Amino acid sequence: MRTVLTADSLWTGSNLIPYPIVEIEGDRIAAITEGFGARVEHPGAEVHEFKDTMLAPAFFDVHIHGAAGHDVMEATPEALGAVGRFLATRGTGSYLPTTVTAPLDMTLRALDGLAKLIDHPDRIDANGDAAQPIGIHLEGPFLSHAKCGVQPKEYLLEPDIATFDRLYEASGGHARLMTLAPELPGAAELTAHASAKGVRVSVGHSDATAAETRAAIAAGAVSATHTFNAMRQLDHREPGILGTVLTTDSLYAELVCDGIHQQPEMSKIFWRSKGAERGILITDAMSAAGMPDGEYHLGNFAVQVANGRAMARGVLAGSVLTLDRALENFVRFTGASLDQALRLLTVNPAAMTGFSAETGTIAVGRKANLVAIGETGKLAASIHNGELVGAPAVR
Ligand SMILES: [Zn+2]
Repeated sequence: MRTVLTADSLWTGSNLIPYPIVEIEGDRIAAITEGFGARVEHPGAEVHEFKDTMLAPAFFDVHIHGAAGHDVMEATPEALGAVGRFLATRGTGSYLPTTVTAPLDMTLRALDGLAKLIDHPDRIDANGDAAQPIGIHLEGPFLSHAKCGVQPKEYLLEPDIATFDRLYEASGGHARLMTLAPELPGAAELTAHASAKGVRVSVGHSDATAAETRAAIAAGAVSATHTFNAMRQLDHREPGILGTVLTTDSLYAELVCDGIHQQPEMSKIFWRSKGAERGILITDAMSAAGMPDGEYHLGNFAVQVANGRAMARGVLAGSVLTLDRALENFVRFTGASLDQALRLLTVNPAAMTGFSAETGTIAVGRKANLVAIGETGKLAASIHNGELVGAPAVR
């Protein structure tokens, strides 16, 4: 099946092409040419003309716990199929299923299940219409008691290389990102150990001082988890983890840009600090994303969702955000141009996690996973494996 897409522009992940004609054969991009607004005549092909939009690479979410009524720790084909199909309709092409702190045996079981599904994507996605899990993010168990957020305190552990190795083995080597609190004893050693295995360390859920954070970065930490949230607050005499994250230019940093996890002014501070090269937009979504208000689960605890807010025990418990809305919010809150903002959902997360060959850019021969975005950053259409998987419903 041949499909042809046109739009006002195409941002490939590095450059802008005016009036693109994107030809897709099966699930791959076959050709990209400049059309200069010419009428497209492609007999026998399915042609989609996306007016007033920019085509861009599908999004990559490095921090997501669930959606569509399912938690990724269920680690079943049904759960990841439902999560992936929902994400694909919102422009996300790939993601890192993210664990929350839970009893160790439960986490090991979840990692084992996730690893098998990453190795056999056909089990999740028989029809080719589901976003793909391409690695795993371990959010815990090596987090701070003081800044654990909703992560259950009873299962938090001190950094321990043997425990990490068990988690890594259970993940079949697919653990690619780990959130770690730098102030815990042994954090620097574990950072170095994990980094040597290719697991990127992200500082977060932390009450660390600036010096402790700098030590983790020196040991290999490359990113920060949901900047501002579950972090020691900024103090002008002790900049702490937050001050260090915002001023260390080499460090990537995540942001949950739902207008709930922080006020728009803070999104602007984030943009001015991390910029187009190091910012990463995530959802931190849990199972209620894409679902009506009600009671849901995150890992093994209950979460109440009302008016877009997910709460457990009086604390924010993830989000119901989708990356298309994160992009729209971010453009509105910061005034960033669309192609610059798009970096935060495509090339930056791919570069941080080492998945640039798999996701984050558009090129001939690549999987045809694209989004069409309107001028305000609103998702107009999502194309997954060469197929239109739906324009988002009115929300
Ligand atoms: Zn999370």
